[in-house]
Amino acid sequence: MKFYSTNNKALRTDFKNAVFHSLPADKGLYMPEEIPKLDPLFIKNITQYSLQDIALEIAKLYVGEDIPEAALKDIVADAINFDAPIHFLDSETGVLELFHGPSFAFKDFGARFMSRIMGYFSKADDQLLDVLVATSGDTGGAVALGFLDVPGTRVTILYPKGKVSKVQEQQLTTNGKNIRAIEIDGTFDDCQALVKQAFNDSEVNQQLRLTSANSINISRLIPQTFYYFWAYAQLRLQGIKEVVFTVPSGNYGNIGAGLLAYKMGLPVKNFVAATNANDTVPRFLNSGKYEPKPSVQTLANAMDVGNPSNWVRIQDLFDHDLSALQHLIRTYTYNDEETLKGVQEIYDKYAYVACPHTAIAYLAAKAHRGEYPGTYASVLLSTAHPCKFPDAIPADVFQHVQLPVGAEHFDSKEKQAISMSANYDTFKQYLMSNK
Ligand SMILES: *Cc1c(COP(=O)(O)O)cnc(C)c1O
Repeated sequence: MKFYSTNNKALRTDFKNAVFHSLPADKGLYMPEEIPKLDPLFIKNITQYSLQDIALEIAKLYVGEDIPEAALKDIVADAINFDAPIHFLDSETGVLELFHGPSFAFKDFGARFMSRIMGYFSKADDQLLDVLVATSGDTGGAVALGFLDVPGTRVTILYPKGKVSKVQEQQLTTNGKNIRAIEIDGTFDDCQALVKQAFNDSEVNQQLRLTSANSINISRLIPQTFYYFWAYAQLRLQGIKEVVFTVPSGNYGNIGAGLLAYKMGLPVKNFVAATNANDTVPRFLNSGKYEPKPSVQTLANAMDVGNPSNWVRIQDLFDHDLSALQHLIRTYTYNDEETLKGVQEIYDKYAYVACPHTAIAYLAAKAHRGEYPGTYASVLLSTAHPCKFPDAIPADVFQHVQLPVGAEHFDSKEKQAISMSANYDTFKQYLMSNK
């Protein structure tokens, strides 16, 4: 399978190149040249298959020509080594828990698959692959833990001092081995600027093989389709045939993967995009005008994106057909006060603690059912474990959070981070003298 840039469909590149470069030179996004259909018979019999079976079947469609099946099977088994169960709140509402991976957030699906794909391709090349990432919290943890112990790779993570939660910091800084953490005395934007400068520095690029593990990498999108099919398999086991997925959305990678799964043949009635105050897409679907604006800080901070980078992909997937998008995707938006009330309500009604992103999805799924009653199941995607967001959950609810297995393991390990000012020369010096 070849991949084109959304800015120039005539130019094609292979999977390896699309993975290592993340972004085409023309600043579009890579998309598969055709959307493969999952075999209808496989979908019909999907209740017979495990999450890993489904993952392999999908992965083969995209990379079957580039990676032999036996190697791909190992990559899938190693990357997707945790479950994504549905927790039913009531008979018509389920929470698809995507936080059972090592960083306790759904980004583990993308980061773990990408890391193993990169490891596989760089093994043949025999040069250490240096992954640079700037993080405001969740992405860094998934990338750090995703690449931990992957041979042939090394990760350097820059994070803003004092601006990530305790669990997030532990996930970034206690790994050692092939993971290096740098605590920047500055903001997330400072971290991102340092990383960008390194990518544009020819001297650094001559000596190190840099890659970005960016969230818009095509190898992060593909594995996110796995859990939509897996959710459908679980529903079918319960005798449920019709589903509406509600996705808490920021950069629109998660819902983008759902829409890709839909195009691959997954039966879905509707998608609901649930957002915080960063409502560029809801405004677009209402007005037909795409007007991005600077991001606003909210309690559901992993969704604080004013100009969602994956939206271009979704437009491409639907040939820029506004009415098709309006037909399939419904949107609801919530402010911080409503988000906190949502967290409280889920706990009071169902004794279930949800992270603020999940609470926004819950509110949107409920509003959607109010507006469009029916016999379908609402499945809301739970993107992170609540333990990662202590400041965004009322204290009387947070006290009921059960730390996931593995969390104590971070507590017992020592923080290993280098402190640095937000100065490019210092950062460059560090990179060049610690090869
Ligand atoms: C990244 C993230 C989101 C947003 O997902 P997108 O793919 O960017 O839309 C939502 N919730 C959590 C917890 C996240 O980490």
